[in-house]
Amino acid sequence: MSQAPTIIYSIANQKGGVGKTTTAVNLAALVSAQNKRVLIIDSDPQANATSSLGVKLPENGLTLYDVLVNKHPLDEVIQPTYRPQLFIVPSSPDLAAAEVEMVRFLARELVLKKAIEAISTKFDFIFIDTPPSLGVLTINALTAARHGVIIPVQSEYLALEGLGHLLNTIRLIRDNLNAHLQIAGVLMTMFDSRTKLATQVVNEVRIYFPEETFETVVPRNIRLSEAPSHGEDILTYAPNSPGSMSYQAVTKELLKRSEKF
Ligand code: ADP
Ligand code: MG
Repeated sequence: MSQAPTIIYSIANQKGGVGKTTTAVNLAALVSAQNKRVLIIDSDPQANATSSLGVKLPENGLTLYDVLVNKHPLDEVIQPTYRPQLFIVPSSPDLAAAEVEMVRFLARELVLKKAIEAISTKFDFIFIDTPPSLGVLTINALTAARHGVIIPVQSEYLALEGLGHLLNTIRLIRDNLNAHLQIAGVLMTMFDSRTKLATQVVNEVRIYFPEETFETVVPRNIRLSEAPSHGEDILTYAPNSPGSMSYQAVTKELLKRSEKF
């Protein structure tokens, strides 16, 4: 019997505050709730994914920084979470220094991909959260994203502004570092149904990304913004909230899209 591949997605958009971490944490949690073994890799020095899941730095202090800069085995940096099937490679503010320190490395774009290769058969899915920049950390995440990138887009004015840079980076990485890199999904976030503009923005994005955009649109929902301060994903914190319902629907769409691999 052949083993199913580990499906690896990065969540990226160099704009801050568009819902990358919210999407990474909740997709990872909800996929793990479907009885899949899931790893979330926090590749943002702000460590929001780590704190959103209530994960404290381990006693040995090991984080993604040690993997990227000191070549520490990823296996030894993985921490459990309150969900039995969900694990995390935590981040810490030191990771900001990795951007600078890795510049002198040969094949610096491949460090995360190689670290994941050593452990990936242990997981069904890996989600990589990225910082709001297109630096070495994001390039490593996109190079490691064997099954594609999920791009959260805020449903507001200028949503598409700056996406050109990201699309260009994706193209360059596809041509040089990761031939598999595709847009696995575009997710409209923080949708406010009371404004006409939000609907216009969603329509505009669907014209640019007709295949890629998820049917589900994530509404602006206060529960989604409260959950991280409780160290909980949305299914645990407010299972019946509109935010929870929407991320459950996106999870379903993503699992369907993942069947082709
Ligand atoms: P990024 O990782 O792209 O910087 P975050 O996921 O951290 O973005 O989201 C930015 C802020 O908006 C956070 O405070 C988060 O809790 C909040 N937020 C994200 N998605 C929603 C949503 N759908 N409704 C309300 N608040 C949201
Ligand atoms: Mg973030």
